[in-house]
Amino acid sequence: MKSHAIIPIFIPHSGCRNDCVFCNQRRITARSQAPTQNQIRETIEVYLSTLEPQSLPTVEIAFYGGSFTGLTLEEQTEYLTLAQEYKAAGRVRKIHLSTRPDYINPAILDNLKRFSVDTVELGVQSFDERVLRLSNRGHDAAQVYKSATQLQEYGFELGIQLMVGLPGDTLEKDIFSAKELVSLRPSIARIYPTIVLPETKLHQMTLSGEYTPLSLDDAVYRTKEMVKIIEGAGINIIRIGLKSSELIHSGEGSTLTGETYHPAFRQLVEGELARESLERQLEDRWPLLENLPDRILFASSSESFSNMIGHQKKNKKYFAEKVPCVKIEYVIDSNLRKNQYTIKEDIENESSRNRHR
Ligand code: SF4
Repeated sequence: MKSHAIIPIFIPHSGCRNDCVFCNQRRITARSQAPTQNQIRETIEVYLSTLEPQSLPTVEIAFYGGSFTGLTLEEQTEYLTLAQEYKAAGRVRKIHLSTRPDYINPAILDNLKRFSVDTVELGVQSFDERVLRLSNRGHDAAQVYKSATQLQEYGFELGIQLMVGLPGDTLEKDIFSAKELVSLRPSIARIYPTIVLPETKLHQMTLSGEYTPLSLDDAVYRTKEMVKIIEGAGINIIRIGLKSSELIHSGEGSTLTGETYHPAFRQLVEGELARESLERQLEDRWPLLENLPDRILFASSSESFSNMIGHQKKNKKYFAEKVPCVKIEYVIDSNLRKNQYTIKEDIENESSRNRHR
């Protein structure tokens, strides 16, 4: 059951003075205006009208878009006053915002504390200096460690966002970034594959051949390796890949270049993790695959069942080809945790369980 909901408030690029190669917010902002207090209040009320009857334990107001702490302190205060009003009334539980690592200093942190902000997400994107430079991030990795530490010292929940496949990036650098993220012990993380949006420097770099977008398979593979490191360290990854609604902010009628955007990117990654887990168990238990029993069960919890099957039944097709002589049944086992997969041989007692052939 859903226990958590976010009320997203999109603040266009106005807080950000940078121009990262992959970002088109500067152009979008030229065509859009920051929401007024009344517009934000209206948005919050619309969300609350459906969320409040559900009595969810956690509802957050989250400021997304540019770089919140790049706004003037007066502008930040104006937005935060409104958010705090809802928090003080008990209608939302948390205030959440995202910003750049170099827009953090004691005056900003004191102000965020004053308005009882809970979570600050840093758009880190990479811990590799060359990748940061080629992406025109405008800060170095040292700035990330400094800001992350300051945020934690002030008692904020830290979030870290990483991107996969930026200019100069490699699988090794992505793995390095995932390990560095873990070393900072954030409360939450996000991973986004790099998407070539129109009206960006990255788009020009792609057209000129200076940058080649990752293939979808490469993006999924790299992200999967990062997820293993980050989730393996017990850090909650709240988002993998952009939602289609987030592409709205990429511009009307925009055409994406490359194939790294996929509406079910997280399922692709989690499906690969499921396949990998089942394949490893299969090969550990039956190193000579010809000794497999006639029938086996692949089991998961109900919430991970679609990952086990794979996007468009990719995993089912894969295993049907890998072990064609074995009948594999896909079942739900309520004793299993999310993203836990097991293989069973004995199907005698499984008949009451949900089956999918
Ligand atoms: S810091 Fe964020 S908002 Fe600013 S240019 Fe880079 S991606 Fe865009």
